[in-house]
Amino acid sequence: MADCVFCKIIAGDIPSKKLYEDALCYAFYDINPQSDTHFLVVPKAHIASANELTEENAAVVAHIFTVIPKLAKELGLESYRVINNCGEGAGQTVFHLHFHVLSGKNLGEKLV
Ligand code: AMP
Ligand code: ZN
Repeated sequence: MADCVFCKIIAGDIPSKKLYEDALCYAFYDINPQSDTHFLVVPKAHIASANELTEENAAVVAHIFTVIPKLAKELGLESYRVINNCGEGAGQTVFHLHFHVLSGKNLGEKLV
């Protein structure tokens, strides 16, 4: 999608610190990390948010949730938190579906 920052990252038009890529998804470090380790995993297809998931396009989410533990293992993360913000009121600022993976000593017990 033309004006989408994550589509531009996937296309290589905006630089990113890439962790992993396959046919379906792309993983890269967050530019503004909120914990010791903070990366994002996004589908290559532009899906604006979790609200746009359907039976037809949702298989990529299961795929992403197989990639996340592989990356966590590679990075030596024993514990981590996966977050998806859906909608402005929940803090979504980039409207291309993404899963935050956070790990480190500053992870609190509470979600909000
Ligand atoms: P959210 O607030 O859930 O939509 O998360 C968007 C995330 O994307 C934020 O944590 C930003 O720091 C991150 N972000 C925005 N632009 C970039 C970029 N060019 N490279 C890496 N991460 C980015
Ligand atoms: Zn996009």
